[in-house]
Amino acid sequence: MPNNSRFRRRRATSRLNLRLPSALLTKESEGVTMIPTFPVLGILSAMTLGKTDLPQISYVVTPIPAEDRTALEVEMTILTGDQTQSLLHLPHSSMGARNLERTISGLDVEPPAQLLDGEVPWQRVVEHGPQEELIVRYRVDWDPTQPKTTSYRPLVDSESFQFFSEHWMIRPVEEDQAAHWRFECFDEPEGWAFFGSFGVDSGSMEGPWTEVRDGFLAGGIVRGSILEVGGGRAAVMLQGPMECSDERLLRSVESVIEQQRRLLGGPVPATFVVSILEISEDVLAGVSLQNSFVCRVHGERSCDEIAELIAHEMFHQWVPGQGTVHGDYADEYQWFSEGLADYFARRFLVDSGMVDVETFVRWTNEDLVTYASNPHRHADHSEMKRAHETDFNNDYYRLNYMRGFLLALRWETHLRRAGKPSLVHALAALLDRCREQDAPLHEEDFFELFQGHGVTTVQDDVERFIDRGELLTVQPDSFGDEWEIREDPNSGAPQFHQR
Ligand SMILES: [Zn+2]
Repeated sequence: MPNNSRFRRRRATSRLNLRLPSALLTKESEGVTMIPTFPVLGILSAMTLGKTDLPQISYVVTPIPAEDRTALEVEMTILTGDQTQSLLHLPHSSMGARNLERTISGLDVEPPAQLLDGEVPWQRVVEHGPQEELIVRYRVDWDPTQPKTTSYRPLVDSESFQFFSEHWMIRPVEEDQAAHWRFECFDEPEGWAFFGSFGVDSGSMEGPWTEVRDGFLAGGIVRGSILEVGGGRAAVMLQGPMECSDERLLRSVESVIEQQRRLLGGPVPATFVVSILEISEDVLAGVSLQNSFVCRVHGERSCDEIAELIAHEMFHQWVPGQGTVHGDYADEYQWFSEGLADYFARRFLVDSGMVDVETFVRWTNEDLVTYASNPHRHADHSEMKRAHETDFNNDYYRLNYMRGFLLALRWETHLRRAGKPSLVHALAALLDRCREQDAPLHEEDFFELFQGHGVTTVQDDVERFIDRGELLTVQPDSFGDEWEIREDPNSGAPQFHQR
């Protein structure tokens, strides 16, 4: 493969003069800027270039569309140090997708070098001279016909691809993680856009591997729009047929970003990238990534459901992105990040008029039924800890959502009764503290801070409902006086009914 003409060497800067199809921009009445046709080829680098003194790892990606898929041909360039041996990690297992090393073929290094097997099937050892520029070429070919074991698998078809970083990147070992990473797309088919966590069409992402890892790379025929919102730009990339209109999806994204940035503060990336992609199975799946989030939704899902997903994923930019709480084991406070994401996603959508309160109540009723039938609903601290470390399943995972959601609803209800400011003020204060100390809050500090904001029962509640696994209940006035609680005869779960 070394002589394949697709692998011409290119200077990474050669694509920095990009064409923004400004003639295609139209202003919508609601302040949404839409590009009504497919190609979006603008330069929207999330990070500024520079720091050329840092070692670079650059990736040039060439999409190769075929009848049922798009493969990627990748050229990675690394500058080695004084060592004469480098270890390469192939994609292996990430986000539920497994055996990813089998999707890699044609691995080849230039200048010609010994390529040896590593200790595991997803490692290779390269022998080379000191201070050498190594060009590593390979092909990523994900077979779309294999079983759909996870919604977070690589997605490919004849006119698009979407991979999370660990799905496609061969990378050097941790200690070689250079500070400057660059991605660009080459020879993209006519009408295709190229985008990812770093921006749209071209650009670079700088930072430690941990940040690059939490990213995605995509390309294809998309309906792209650029919004100016909340002090930054948001590139919204829509793909596939969806019953919810593009206009409504864009409005949801715009409203959610504006509202959450206003209420929760913190730094704003120059470009934030949102990808909403239709997926064949009946799911609503989202993941929050570096300066971006990705939603994969079945085309028949309602606008309200997708808006909730958008608001939930956006919220993760703050929790845990900019702050959270840590207990005595990793993920102990998953109930906090997932539950508050659900609570505030819904609360914010109601407050901004995107969703009506009846929908919020319906979602809560559905959660209450699921909670009442969750086989682990009485799990205490030690059971949750064991589960997180060994056999964490979807029921435990969902339990964390329910508990955090119901606790937030409980606290908000208490605050309202006491005439205190909303829970969002306590959360904003928590985020300020975490940003200040650049670390999650300790549990004791979290209790003290929330108590100071009127959540007087916070410690007691966490001890009862999280540590001891008592069943959470709901207050009849959670949504105001026009609602009452009746027991669902089938599940025994409390349900809100309009009086
Ligand atoms: Zn979440």
